[in-house]
Amino acid sequence: MMRVTNKQRKVVIIGAGITGLTTAFYMQKQVREEKLPIDVVLLDASLRTGGKIETLRQDGYVIERGPESFYDQHGDVERLAQDLYIRSKLMYNNIGNSYIAVHGELHPIPNHFTMNRTTNESPSFMTTNLLSLSGKLRAMKDIVLPRGHEEDESVAHFFKRRVGTEVVENFIEPLLAGTFAGDIDQLSMRAMFPELYQLEEEHRSLLKGLKKTDILFLPNEVRHHRGVYQTFQHGLQTLVESLEESLVPHSLRKGVRVEQIDEANGGVVLQLNNGEKLHADELIIATPFAAAKKMLHIDGIFDEIQPVKSATIATVTMAFRKEQITKYEDAINFFVSRNSNFAVTSCTFSHNKWDDIAPDGQALLRLYLGRVGDETIVELSDSEIEKIVLNDLQEAIGLIGQPQFTIVSRWKEAMPQYVVGHDEAVQSIRQNLSKRLPMVHVTGSSYEGVSIPNCVAQGRAMAKRILTKLTQADYTDA
Ligand SMILES: Cc1cc2nc3c(=O)[nH]c(=O)nc-3n(C[C@H](O)[C@H](O)[C@H](O)COP(=O)(O)OP(=O)(O)OC[C@H]3O[C@@H](n4cnc5c(N)ncnc54)[C@H](O)[C@@H]3O)c2cc1C
Repeated sequence: MMRVTNKQRKVVIIGAGITGLTTAFYMQKQVREEKLPIDVVLLDASLRTGGKIETLRQDGYVIERGPESFYDQHGDVERLAQDLYIRSKLMYNNIGNSYIAVHGELHPIPNHFTMNRTTNESPSFMTTNLLSLSGKLRAMKDIVLPRGHEEDESVAHFFKRRVGTEVVENFIEPLLAGTFAGDIDQLSMRAMFPELYQLEEEHRSLLKGLKKTDILFLPNEVRHHRGVYQTFQHGLQTLVESLEESLVPHSLRKGVRVEQIDEANGGVVLQLNNGEKLHADELIIATPFAAAKKMLHIDGIFDEIQPVKSATIATVTMAFRKEQITKYEDAINFFVSRNSNFAVTSCTFSHNKWDDIAPDGQALLRLYLGRVGDETIVELSDSEIEKIVLNDLQEAIGLIGQPQFTIVSRWKEAMPQYVVGHDEAVQSIRQNLSKRLPMVHVTGSSYEGVSIPNCVAQGRAMAKRILTKLTQADYTDA
């Protein structure tokens, strides 16, 4: 094979969230290593990079406005950290008790149902009071039930079928609502939990499959000392900062919003908010789907496609003195069932979960507000939100007094909801693009996984795909 052209190509990436940053990093790394004639430019509408990742560091506190940790099941973030030479800055969470609030009361989550690794005092599945005897017997029925796979089904439907309604209402719904703000009656099992979905196919019984695999269980060396969740020293922004620093000088442009994308000369032309026009041979859109759709209003390209909807949520961080918490002082977190009167959907005791996140003697609590279909609470003023959260905390953990500070962060339509049929919708989006605009590609949290590791994996895969496409076009058999 020989290279037939040395023509300089330009790849533009829109969106410097974790997906766009990872894509740019891996593309530039390969371009540098293989001396490829390719320019990679990264644009973001905001004056800061990181998108939903945003860490505040103030007065000895590390406060995450958006995501606060990640579960790196396949080592995607670890590999990126290694490539950035910041692997030593990765931290695992401390272990401690996790609870679920059902009908206003906190119950410990059985040991095998939380990846936080609870202490020995935690009940087992058989002794938990989160389930009645009939609820436990119904869950055990999973062992003898036949397979019942459908093309795709909601998360609630899948688990109700296998382990019954009580497990869904008292475990699955609170854990998912407190993590993804999702409505389990709508979310797609196949898109959200492909590995658990596959368990039924392979092992028939979900419980037997879980026991045989390590999907929810940790390797022994980690299990006894630490949990499975990770962050970086000084917060998730450490990863963002390192990615930004590693980019080729002047290849990142902040404060530049892409207004419109048009086809031109085999590539595309981007219209920017400052009036400038920018040509790209290949374009990667790493923004939420709604923003991509707005930029690409090329007659009806996505009209037939089920929209990728997103939930609106808020995170609330509050600082207290430790002695203001009078119950469940050693908890790592609690989740809230929809059958509870609390407005918050989950609460993390960040000072227990992480080392060096708050000054000595101080407690840092982080709460989620807002569920799909119940999002109006997010629109309230900061002081109204603070009042509601304090009421919940008084009842749930016996909190006394006022916070030293409260930080409310609103995330409007920010948590993508992979509803039933999501995978087909993504396939249609990509098929439409490859037919109509083969030089335009979409990636990120709207498509193949919401979590930070999912976004990193997508970014790395996209970088490889586009460079393969460009370099193969440049070579021919001699
Ligand atoms: C409150 C909250 C808590 C979360 N908690 C966790 C967690 O604990 N663990 C976890 O793994 N995941 C969590 N997630 C999910 C995870 O943080 C996100 O899915 C992920 O960070 C999204 O990254 P992204 O690069 O796909 O998109 P984004 O971070 O949304 O980045 C997109 C970028 O595109 C830019 N942009 C948009 N439109 C334009 C335009 N027209 N022109 C130029 N630029 C544009 C934006 O400014 C933004 O910087 C959480 C998400 C939220 C909102």
